[in-house]
Amino acid sequence: MSKPFSDHDKRKQISVRGLAGVENVAELKVAFNRHLHFTLVKDRNVANKRDYYFALANTVRDHLVGRWIRTQQYYYEKDPKRVYYISLEFYMGRTLQNTMVNLALENACDEAIYQLGLDMEELEDMEEDAGLGNGGLGRLAACFLDSMASLGLAAYGYGIRYEFGIFNQKIVNGWQVEEADDWLRYGNPWEKARPEYMRPVKFYGRTEHTPDGVKWVDTQVVLALPYDTPIPGYRNNIVNTMRLWSAKAPCDFNLKDFNVGGYIQAVLDRNLCENISRVLYPNDNFFEGKELRLKQEYFVVAATLQDVVRRFKASKFGSREVVRTDFAELPNKVAIQLNDTHPAMAIPELMRVLVDEEKLGWDKAWDVCVRTCAYTNHTVLPEALERWPIDLFHHLLPRHLEIIFEINHRFMEFPGDHDRMRRMSLIEEGGCKKVNMAHLCIVGSHAVNGVARIHSEILIATLYVTNATHTHYDNIGDGFKDFYELDPHKFQNKTNGITPRRWLVMCNPGLAEVIAEKIGEEFIRDLDQLKRLLKFINDDAFIRDIAKVKQENKLKFAVHLEEHYKVKINPQSMFDFQVKRIHEYKRQLLNCLHMITYYNRIKKEPNKHWTPRTIMVGGKAAPGYHTAKMIIRLITAIGEVVNHDPVVGDRLKVIFLENYRVTLAEKAIPSADLSEQISTAGTEASGTGNMKFMLNGALTIGTMDGANVEMAEEAGEENLFIFGMRVEDVDAMDAGKGYHASEYYNRIPELKQAMDQIAGGFFSPKQPDLFKELVDLLMHHDRFKVFADYEAYIKCQDKVNQLYKNPKEWTKMVIHNIAGCGKFSSDRTIAQYAREIWGMEPSLEKIPAPDEKLK
Ligand SMILES: *Cc1c(COP(=O)(O)O)cnc(C)c1O
Repeated sequence: MSKPFSDHDKRKQISVRGLAGVENVAELKVAFNRHLHFTLVKDRNVANKRDYYFALANTVRDHLVGRWIRTQQYYYEKDPKRVYYISLEFYMGRTLQNTMVNLALENACDEAIYQLGLDMEELEDMEEDAGLGNGGLGRLAACFLDSMASLGLAAYGYGIRYEFGIFNQKIVNGWQVEEADDWLRYGNPWEKARPEYMRPVKFYGRTEHTPDGVKWVDTQVVLALPYDTPIPGYRNNIVNTMRLWSAKAPCDFNLKDFNVGGYIQAVLDRNLCENISRVLYPNDNFFEGKELRLKQEYFVVAATLQDVVRRFKASKFGSREVVRTDFAELPNKVAIQLNDTHPAMAIPELMRVLVDEEKLGWDKAWDVCVRTCAYTNHTVLPEALERWPIDLFHHLLPRHLEIIFEINHRFMEFPGDHDRMRRMSLIEEGGCKKVNMAHLCIVGSHAVNGVARIHSEILIATLYVTNATHTHYDNIGDGFKDFYELDPHKFQNKTNGITPRRWLVMCNPGLAEVIAEKIGEEFIRDLDQLKRLLKFINDDAFIRDIAKVKQENKLKFAVHLEEHYKVKINPQSMFDFQVKRIHEYKRQLLNCLHMITYYNRIKKEPNKHWTPRTIMVGGKAAPGYHTAKMIIRLITAIGEVVNHDPVVGDRLKVIFLENYRVTLAEKAIPSADLSEQISTAGTEASGTGNMKFMLNGALTIGTMDGANVEMAEEAGEENLFIFGMRVEDVDAMDAGKGYHASEYYNRIPELKQAMDQIAGGFFSPKQPDLFKELVDLLMHHDRFKVFADYEAYIKCQDKVNQLYKNPKEWTKMVIHNIAGCGKFSSDRTIAQYAREIWGMEPSLEKIPAPDEKLK
């Protein structure tokens, strides 16, 4: 299949991409050639695509610098309250196109690159993803940075500059194989190292209690070297900072230590402490209690708080520069948001700084700490809760353990029954004592929020289960409910969102343009404006335009698929996607059962009219999560059978999308007809993939879980394909007769047939027992009740097929979804965090551009 349209011509038509004035274009070409020559030290005879990408990246970066300096100066002068978003993950993806969009440079750059005889998309594809995240949690942090800058908040993202981000996934003979993500190999044009702001971070050692306070001594020091990345707001001249720390051994590392075998060995051992920022832990929604991970968590927090305190002290007071020492002011000047419990050490570390270093009394320090910090919970899955063994803590961070004991001691003074105290303690008793990081965060924060309404309700109302692994879990007690009853005002909801810049304007310019033709461009800043599309719900030309953009996006993605997977794609078929991390709770296995059932139906009645489908599943499995890897293997196995069956032809294809990541999401989602959001009710905290699909004109088939509930509310439940058990049904089942897979298996012939095929080697003829463990799991210990929703799911998929036969009705439902999307902008989410947690006021005002005068 050849390219259906010229991307250059397509992009040029689009007004939302900024002006391509002749002067702009000429200047960009000059700058590009200058960078190729002076920065890359190449000429057009020897330059390759990567050189051209770097020349363009540097050209675009030049437009950030003045605004970046200006913004930071402006914050220094005005001294607004600052928010620090601390996260172990920032899943940024690529930066070039996003920068061009936010600076309105896209058409001008496109034209310049075209005039230089180069292909913009080819250059863009040379950029490595900044894959410093696992999935939704890390991508949320990235969307939040865009929204905070676009809303004019003095915000900082703080995290770790992992040398290796999320692994690259290869599919080899149907299996996932991991490769290291060496994303910095060719350099990163978007970051600036700031060695002059290096900070020391201490580990190990012991405490000394002296008359003038506690001293933490005999420590090992690791240096934290900051790398700054600019975060431009949407066309408002604001450029905020994401600061990522890299671990660096001090020059004298191990050299004073008599135990070490001399100079050479000491230099070699520098690697040991620099390992702290080597690699992102690839677990999504799973806690693995490794010492190196605890080091990472403390490392980011300790380095960040030094910046927070330095900036607080150095801020201007009116027009005078004074050193601020009144820490009672800290909560008025600083908000710290903890993205899950991963940066929970911010709480004891802030206490250590205030009490041991700044010499505040405990009570005053605690008041400051609680009023400054806030915590976002991202999951109710027990296996994801961080519970660090006390021995490890004592060894690595002895002073912090003392502080946590003290916090707990004082917290435990409220009146209450003994059982309740045990449940709420920060220290879990039993075989091996552990620090419960969620409890630490709740007690040490003034606000605790869930990430969708249903999730926030579950957090404060239901049973908590702890002590779990991927394969085993024990029920021990009641968590957040107790805390809620003690302090109900602390608990809030902040439904997640996505940035419409990346997830619409940038990835789906055709759709953005069709929308802009009807309602103008304001929706890019104010997504609620999409409601105005409802006026055009019966406008045939508009319906045709929406359908046409989708078809163009499908043709383009079909080209990608055919090149990559050597499968012939039917571009008329329904593009059905389930892309997200592979996890039992997300129920890719339920999708597998639908694939097999649909296949069996086509085989049984090959001459009937079947709605053609291309079912695509993508996502990474944590390398240590055996079941998730087997799920990938099952999907590839189903594809091998289905895709080569001549009876099926082009009516069903099953493709496992390799290496799902931000960049692949941006290519895939605009082409989607159907979005699969089928987790067991009560398990998906919010989901954000669901929102990306909705915004890009896909319909959702999903359970009443996470943000799906609010999506149905916004678009109208009749405009989503909702099926299956509600949370109440799941709870009733657990409280009543329980879940018994065999009952469904014995009662539902198509389910039995599908399971018997998996178990009997139909999809793995060379190894008939390949999926024995998966079958055993589904039949005997499925925590996520796949079979209980099977019938409702298949019936619902029938309804999806029926509607797809009527393109006009389908597209009208799509328009209802796009029009109902406004709530799911991360601008709305961030405005709520700002007003309801941080005590800050968002603003759509611009600040002056670098060539304009500052007020
Ligand atoms: C949005 C996103 C996610 C989150 O998807 P969910 O379906 O909400 O789990 C995961 N990975 C990538 C690359 C994303 O862009």
